[in-house]
Amino acid sequence: MAQVYFATARVGKWKYDDSMPGKLERLLKKADLGTYFEKKEWVAVKTHFGSDGAHRIVRPTFLRKIADGLKAVGARPFVTDTVRILGLDYLEVANYNGINHLSVGVPVILADGIFGHDNLMVRAGEILGEIAVAAAIYDVPAMVVCSHVKGHIQAGYAGAIKNLAMGAVSSTHRHCGWKCGRGAMHATGEGKLVWDAEKCTFCFQCQEICPLECINFADGEMRYDNEKCWRCGRCARVCPSDGLELPGDDTLFMRSLAEAAAAVLTTFQPKKVLYVNFLTEIQPECDCMPAAEVPIMQDLGILVTDDIVAVEQASIDMLLKAKPLPQSLAQDMGVKDGDDILMKLHNKHYHIQIEEAVRLGIGSREYELIMLE
Ligand code: SF4
Ligand code: SF4
Repeated sequence: MAQVYFATARVGKWKYDDSMPGKLERLLKKADLGTYFEKKEWVAVKTHFGSDGAHRIVRPTFLRKIADGLKAVGARPFVTDTVRILGLDYLEVANYNGINHLSVGVPVILADGIFGHDNLMVRAGEILGEIAVAAAIYDVPAMVVCSHVKGHIQAGYAGAIKNLAMGAVSSTHRHCGWKCGRGAMHATGEGKLVWDAEKCTFCFQCQEICPLECINFADGEMRYDNEKCWRCGRCARVCPSDGLELPGDDTLFMRSLAEAAAAVLTTFQPKKVLYVNFLTEIQPECDCMPAAEVPIMQDLGILVTDDIVAVEQASIDMLLKAKPLPQSLAQDMGVKDGDDILMKLHNKHYHIQIEEAVRLGIGSREYELIMLE
């Protein structure tokens, strides 16, 4: 049974040890980083850099603590994510969200290069076939997966599985394009965008958010570059009037997240990946959206373990006990105390990703929760 270490976000005593950074430091000591990471070993600290306007990511303060913890056991960490908007622009997003070499104390790099083409094909499974895993993640022997727990429009819940699946896989592959990238999870079939002229209000939000400038409007019609499109789905997600749809299947999406995460894990030896889930600033949507909403539930704390399923199950078990926050989307949607907040918000059976991860044998839902004193 996995041991999951937990530190609450509440402060008992007004001293550093009881702060969130102080508790993270103590959690990492409890988890005993030296048993996972060797001297001089490269370790990827995988996080999400956020996006233009989405600032509720894992804060650089915490990344710094993790990097410092790794350096203390002699390892050589670097902080990383994969290209979600064109590479150098994405590094700039990281920078203004506070993540840079100076703040985290180690290099901040793109795991799949500045164009997102540095990746290797890895066998995934029955849904995805093969998937393009970012080269730096493929090659690095060890990793700490730092995940900001939140809601997600298509998966209902987003944590470590989604961070690994979407975040360690490139948007596109040099030869087989989006079909071997994360678009293969977002879209089904040819994944061609469907525009509904009747519903479109010509707000142009889809055009603004597209990272590749695929979309434009002329003569009252939407046009898009189907060849160039990554099938990231952002345009459809921001459409306020259901005027744009990326053909997809929620169940397949969640199962494919687990499948991609499992594929990424095949590039590591056992016990070389540690998971840190941050149940903080838990907002309704993904950090790749163009804005971050106010949290729908209070900060809960930080979980650390070496089992990807256990960290997700423990996170979900905590979210299920949380109360909806007033003046948030949860209140707007009439969520009551005792409700499953994420289910009420997104109406997605988000447990599917956990069940699929168990079926694929990458972890266990059974865990022992060890509270930090
Ligand atoms: S799915 Fe939409 S936002 Fe994403 S690359 Fe294609 S056109 Fe652009
Ligand atoms: S976001 Fe939707 S409504 Fe706005 S222009 Fe695009 S398709 Fe039309």
